[in-house]
Amino acid sequence: MRIEIIEKNVDTILRPTGINLAPYVVNPYQGCAFACLFCYAQFSKAAQKETSEWGKYVKVKVNGLEILKKELQLKNPKKVLIGSTTEPFQPVEKKYGLTRGIIRILNQRKIKYVIMSRSLLLGEYIEELDRQLCAGIYFTVDVMPKLLKQKFEPYAVSAKKSIELVNKLINNNINTTAYFCPVMPFLHENLKEVNSLNIEVKAEFEIINFQMSGIRRIIQTIEQIYPEAAKKYKKMCLDKTFYNNVARDIKKDIKKIAGERFKDVKIHQHKYADYF
Ligand code: SF4
Repeated sequence: MRIEIIEKNVDTILRPTGINLAPYVVNPYQGCAFACLFCYAQFSKAAQKETSEWGKYVKVKVNGLEILKKELQLKNPKKVLIGSTTEPFQPVEKKYGLTRGIIRILNQRKIKYVIMSRSLLLGEYIEELDRQLCAGIYFTVDVMPKLLKQKFEPYAVSAKKSIELVNKLINNNINTTAYFCPVMPFLHENLKEVNSLNIEVKAEFEIINFQMSGIRRIIQTIEQIYPEAAKKYKKMCLDKTFYNNVARDIKKDIKKIAGERFKDVKIHQHKYADYF
């Protein structure tokens, strides 16, 4: 796929965040080549202003490292999240190395960091990660059926490869959580992949958010391949009891598959909203 790469200068790169992993976040890029259909970031104010479609552009914050150094001095954060609205290890990182630069700056200044990623390129950064300062990696494992994956996240890696990397990170003493997301009701049979994980790994599961702006487009896409599941998804949008029952059953399934194997399992379910 052809992606437009745009270099830009920024005034700020270290921003406060409501994500409870760290008080500040740094996003080295804007936009994302992974182009996931369910990505929350595509509905952000900045992305909504773009004329290009989500997944078709990546903006590179070329002066980001200089700005980061200044902002670290001013804001003095104890911990920084790397990557909330972009994939910090997407292909363009190979050329620009902004994420590598950010990690090095945080290492030098002894500031802790948490990383969210779904990219195998992260595996090439193991030596850059300070074992004391890297407070955690949340690595997304995609468990969608293959046909759906082609439509939803055509550039994302397979569950098998993601799990191999998660195991490698753990074996290298990096605090890593396998983040199974999004868990798709009625289409979640691939969750059994969790059994290939290193027993030391923490596992979290996030059921797809039925409140997100693009949910109708997502259901239409599912309908092309799994019409029966799509019917149930539509019902989940309209019927709170059904929605909660489905979520309860999935949680039971997850606990059956993962609960006994892992000490630390968290399941995230978005609350039903009445405005459907
Ligand atoms: S990799 Fe992450 S940031 Fe990029 S499109 Fe997918 S969900 Fe969004």
